[in-house]
Amino acid sequence: MHHYLDQIYQELVIRHPHEKEYLQAVYEFLDSLGDLVDSDSSITENNMIRRMVEPDRIISFKVIWEDDQGVNQVNTGYRVQFNQALGPYKGGIRFHPTVNQSILKFLAFEQTFKNSLTNLPLGGAKGGSDFNPKGKSDQEILRFCRAFMTELYTYLGPDLDIPAGDIGVSSKAVGYMFGMYKRLTHRHHGSFTSKGITYGGSLVRPQATGYGLVYITEALLKTYFDTSIQGKSFVVSGAGNVAIHTASKIISLGGMVKGMSESYGMIHHDKGIDIELLSSIKDKNQTLDQYLNTYSDAIYTDNPKDLWKIPVDIALPCATENELDLEDVKTLHQNHVMAILEGANMPTTLEATHYLIQNKIPFVPGKAANAGGVTVSGLEMQQNAMHVTWDFDTVDQKLKQVMHQIFYRLHEESLRLNNPYDLVKVANILSFKKVYQAMIEQGL
Ligand code: GLU
Repeated sequence: MHHYLDQIYQELVIRHPHEKEYLQAVYEFLDSLGDLVDSDSSITENNMIRRMVEPDRIISFKVIWEDDQGVNQVNTGYRVQFNQALGPYKGGIRFHPTVNQSILKFLAFEQTFKNSLTNLPLGGAKGGSDFNPKGKSDQEILRFCRAFMTELYTYLGPDLDIPAGDIGVSSKAVGYMFGMYKRLTHRHHGSFTSKGITYGGSLVRPQATGYGLVYITEALLKTYFDTSIQGKSFVVSGAGNVAIHTASKIISLGGMVKGMSESYGMIHHDKGIDIELLSSIKDKNQTLDQYLNTYSDAIYTDNPKDLWKIPVDIALPCATENELDLEDVKTLHQNHVMAILEGANMPTTLEATHYLIQNKIPFVPGKAANAGGVTVSGLEMQQNAMHVTWDFDTVDQKLKQVMHQIFYRLHEESLRLNNPYDLVKVANILSFKKVYQAMIEQGL
């Protein structure tokens, strides 16, 4: 890494030695900026990068809620407001037992640059709690969401910070949080996205991240291989909102999804996953081994990583951070994978990312490939501001346009830099330039 950037990174390591996900995201980002720093001395003179890698503020609070037995439970809640140079803070809320400050700082950092790539006027943030919604009753989730919002509402608002869903935060939980936000503030539109369709949500928002990922995959296949999704085989990790909508879009375009996974294991169905069945299994909160009751020719293993051993044309990690490591990408490479695109945030480890770039396997990082979710959040905010509701096709077309724009900008820039297989670097450079410029112009 460039010595100036490495100095900034080492300072972060000293200040936050235990925040490994956050350090990983910053490392990957800074590692891309060396040539830019060399070509523009003002970047080191104004010290802006030092300011960009630390969040503006972290709000952290205790959440006390009553379970169904009447016992008070305690969790920790957070909102990391990372950067508002481009617009109000924007990013999802995650409820998962692994949530901590490091994870939310990495996600808010990524979100800042992802939002920059979409060209929407949105800053970056992320929030959440170590609360585990799995196995909780509806009433427990409602009480948790109310308690969480009671602590957080004062830091939110349509011109200040607009949350959405993320892992563990379904549209039901968004509804409960938004309902509480309204009770506390008497304010309505635009202060949350991924809302339900009956109270200001946008069509296509539930499908947006998955569909957006598939639109970018289409553009990549056309550009690098002059081919389409029709007849291609895929693995899609995860079985949540992103994975399910990704898989169903692929299938509707004539592609075949050979395997999907969850934290307990993976299902391999060589004839093609029946996505209706898989999503009905998940809706009932059952595990994927239930799939075998209908299809005895499918294989279930209790190791989600077995997914990467299935020979396919395209791999789409859509579950969670660092799920795809060096060994996994080597296996995929041996099996002649054509491309890998990140539906989740930072699912690929640094070593695996380097391997893909070195071996010229087209790889689209999450801040570009999964930007569809926040793109439709931006469209939801536009509809709310105008008090209108667009139909499904209108939103879907706008989403497709934004995803294609992101991809073709990255591709063009990669050709300009003579390196068409390093889309990580160009995604970081392009997203950096806009945030940097906005900070300079506003005297931040
Ligand atoms: N949580 C999603 C993401 O990682 C969407 C955020 C939003 O819509 O604000 O991009």
